[in-house]
Amino acid sequence: MALIVQKYGGTSVGDIDSIRNVANRVIKEYQSGNDLVVVLSAMAGATDQLINLAHQVTDIPDERELDALLATGEQTTVSLLAMMLNSIGFPAVSFLGFQAQILTNDAHGRARIQEINVDRIRRALEQKKIVTVAGFQGWTRGGDITTLGRGGSDTSAVALAAALKADSCEIYTDVDGVYTTDPNICGKARKLKKISYDEMLEMASLGAKVLQIRSVEFAKKYNVPVHVRSSFSEEEGTMVVREEKDMEKVLVSGIAYDKNQARITLTKVPDQPGIAAKIFTPMGEAGIEVDMIIQNTRAGGLTDLTFTVATSDYKRAMEIQKNLAREIGTENVYGDENIAKVSIIGVGMRSHAGIAAKMFSSLANENINISMISTSEIKVSCVIEEKYTELAIRVLHDVFELDKAD
Ligand code: ADP
Ligand code: ASP
Ligand code: MG
Repeated sequence: MALIVQKYGGTSVGDIDSIRNVANRVIKEYQSGNDLVVVLSAMAGATDQLINLAHQVTDIPDERELDALLATGEQTTVSLLAMMLNSIGFPAVSFLGFQAQILTNDAHGRARIQEINVDRIRRALEQKKIVTVAGFQGWTRGGDITTLGRGGSDTSAVALAAALKADSCEIYTDVDGVYTTDPNICGKARKLKKISYDEMLEMASLGAKVLQIRSVEFAKKYNVPVHVRSSFSEEEGTMVVREEKDMEKVLVSGIAYDKNQARITLTKVPDQPGIAAKIFTPMGEAGIEVDMIIQNTRAGGLTDLTFTVATSDYKRAMEIQKNLAREIGTENVYGDENIAKVSIIGVGMRSHAGIAAKMFSSLANENINISMISTSEIKVSCVIEEKYTELAIRVLHDVFELDKAD
């Protein structure tokens, strides 16, 4: 007998028929004698709709109240699934974040799980109940509802699998695994049998939303093997696991893209000690994450500074920088929302030179201009014009021969 944590994403619980499909899958596992904890997302589109409602009330919703609102999306699906299972004779009970004792910090909208007390879930499992748990939410020591950031149900599932020492953690979604790149963008994308935690971390942080980055951090930290697969087929998906020797043989194993990026350029900034701190401290204080930063020195003790932020933070970041410009003496603040970041990822890059150059020349051959570059041991990222994203992905997929079997 095994303990299995399954997570079903929004499209897998998008309507009653889909929830019935989930119920059937759950029942099949239950009937083979396994204990089941089923983490659910909200119905597809539900979270967006709730955010939209909040924005009809105010431009800047109170963070605590927004979390209370967004958490209702998952409340709907976990109760419906438990209700459905009970009605056809399979004992089930639903738990919201606070009932599942998922304790987080109080960073509303991007809360981090600190601790999970699994006693109540265990008691329900001992009573042979199927446990459904609302993903994406937790609660603070002070008793407030929090949410874990978009896509956060993945993290709920992996964290629960770690806390329960589950035998397996299965993430069911609308694609049948992790591909070399988004299969909805590139027809030649190939499903990977396995991918290392580090590569998956990079893919997730660089825009591949198939797993939320924090879920991969948890999986790596607690060594939880994660099986990403489709809720609409029986096919084996992709295993996200510790790095194995043969993985190094592949130079580039995936391509990620992120269109939710905006660029801000400050021109003729005084080139003096302390200026960068002056520019970036208020951003940190406002909870705005700055991604790439480039500084170019000009003559005359001046410098130009360019950086990227998430599109959702763009307006606030521009406002902060425009206000600062007067104080600092920056000549101008320019912004551009029509950019995208395209990245190649692979643990094999550690031991091979020339990969970045090959990426740059492939983009150049298509006349795609690169405006920013950043690299790490296992990735190279380029900022390009957003309209060339799909083209860049297809070209890189061909050049690095990602369609060939590993
Ligand atoms: P869920 O609602 O099940 O959590 P998501 O929409 O969050 O599903 O994530 C699945 C989506 O991730 C896919 O539909 C696909 O478009 C996208 N995706 C991006 N990069 C990849 C990749 N490398 N492999 C698979 N899917 C990817
Ligand atoms: N419902 C949340 C979202 O749409 C969480 C999730 O789906 O994982 O972001
Ligand atoms: Mg998701």
